[in-house]
Amino acid sequence: MKVRFLKYILTILSLVVLAFNTEAKQFVVVIDPGHGGKDYGAIGAVTNEKTINLNVAKKLGEKIRKNYGEDEVKVVYTRDKDVFIALNDRARIANEAKGDLFISIHVNSVDKKNKRRATIAGTEVYTCGLHRTESNLEVAKRENAVMYLEDDYSQKYQGFDPTSPESYIAFELNQSKHLDRSIEFATLAKDYLTTTARRVDKGVKQAGFWVLWSTGMPAVLVELDFISNPTSEKFMASANGVEKLSKSLYQAFEDYYTAVNGGQRPAGTATAAKSGDNSKKSEPAAVADSVEEYAAESDAPATVEYRVQVLANDKAVSTSSRLFKGEKVSEYFDRGMYKYTVGHFRSQAEAEKSLRRLRKKFPQAFIIKMENGRRVD
Ligand SMILES: [Zn+2]
Repeated sequence: MKVRFLKYILTILSLVVLAFNTEAKQFVVVIDPGHGGKDYGAIGAVTNEKTINLNVAKKLGEKIRKNYGEDEVKVVYTRDKDVFIALNDRARIANEAKGDLFISIHVNSVDKKNKRRATIAGTEVYTCGLHRTESNLEVAKRENAVMYLEDDYSQKYQGFDPTSPESYIAFELNQSKHLDRSIEFATLAKDYLTTTARRVDKGVKQAGFWVLWSTGMPAVLVELDFISNPTSEKFMASANGVEKLSKSLYQAFEDYYTAVNGGQRPAGTATAAKSGDNSKKSEPAAVADSVEEYAAESDAPATVEYRVQVLANDKAVSTSSRLFKGEKVSEYFDRGMYKYTVGHFRSQAEAEKSLRRLRKKFPQAFIIKMENGRRVD
């Protein structure tokens, strides 16, 4: 009886493990063609943004489906026809699909008042974060403005006002644990769009896009090119243009997918399983601050250590900045970003204690592992 029961338990356990493995293996890419339906996006002379976005998105999805089995990569569209989808519904679709990567596809435009309107061209790939220039903010404002097409936008978006600069302060500390991966994909997308599709390189940038902010996964917003430039518009409206643009994004996807899966095709489960574990462990919990927690944040670096990362930025930030809310931080430079951490812990468990405290000040804080001053997780 006992043996049989044990066997039963083992069978159940192995089924659970199997189910978990199958789930972890499948990579979900969410493709988000911007605008749609009553929302045309940027308007050109011969076409419009919503049409280009959808054409490129569908071609990209086709290419992924052609090269990967559904058990490896699942393609989810926020829309696959000409319909209006609210920003919060796009985010909901992505989050419910438990996406591993969110690619929002858009077309840029220059304001009619700008004299250089017809000559400005090029591709820009955005991750969510604080804009560095006014023009980056303008792009985010324009893309966020679709909220105005909804009657109850103020309620739906918790008072976020797409045209008010103050609203964008919320994005300042949105340096989530997905930022590195987002920048990784954004860089690949930019690289291929400027080579395969031969677009002008306008760089990888950060700005406060609501839709990127509300998706809990690596997320980028691609501005393919400018519809206000007649040559660029013609390219994006052509079958050849759609093919080249979608091919560029596909190549970026292939490189990215290979990288996050440890260079394996088909995918290994290590990366997905690991990140799943981490998010469970680092779930915020309301725990009273204690003297021990503070004491554990000693400033003596060890060869292998854990730290709590609270901020990343493309420019260096003074360690005495108000942004750190009185915390003593250390800086390190990694993958093109300046990153700021609190504490030097000998174990993950010690770091977790402080993480709970720090999450109250920095909701997106997370634990990193360092070896001899370099990040190894
Ligand atoms: Zn757009």
